[in-house]
Amino acid sequence: MLEELQRQTRHGVPLEICGLLLGKATRVTAVRQARNVARKAHRHFEIDPAVLIAAEREAKAGGPEIVGYYHSHPSGQVKPSETDAKNAAPDDRIWLILNGHEASAWQACKNPELFGPFAPITLDCT
Ligand SMILES: [Zn+2]
Repeated sequence: MLEELQRQTRHGVPLEICGLLLGKATRVTAVRQARNVARKAHRHFEIDPAVLIAAEREAKAGGPEIVGYYHSHPSGQVKPSETDAKNAAPDDRIWLILNGHEASAWQACKNPELFGPFAPITLDCT
């Protein structure tokens, strides 16, 4: 699953790619790529709201929950940017950040410490 996302990341250069992490809690059972509808998609990401709404609807109907989001920093470090910190709602959802060969996962939580609203977590992608 992670390798597939790294492939998407490399393929998307110079734009950031993004999508949803589906599953339960910190267990990711599926990913769903979404169009990056940000105006400056080489520096920011904004998940296509249609994909988000469809996934929310599916979750309500008994499908997997949206446990988080992934996006790429095509030429950067795999830690949350200032923009990420500003945009993260403290909803306990996971933020997975990739750069084509490395990845890191964070949880957007209410009690921020080192990285603004983010705390590092270990993802279960099995
Ligand atoms: Zn970012």
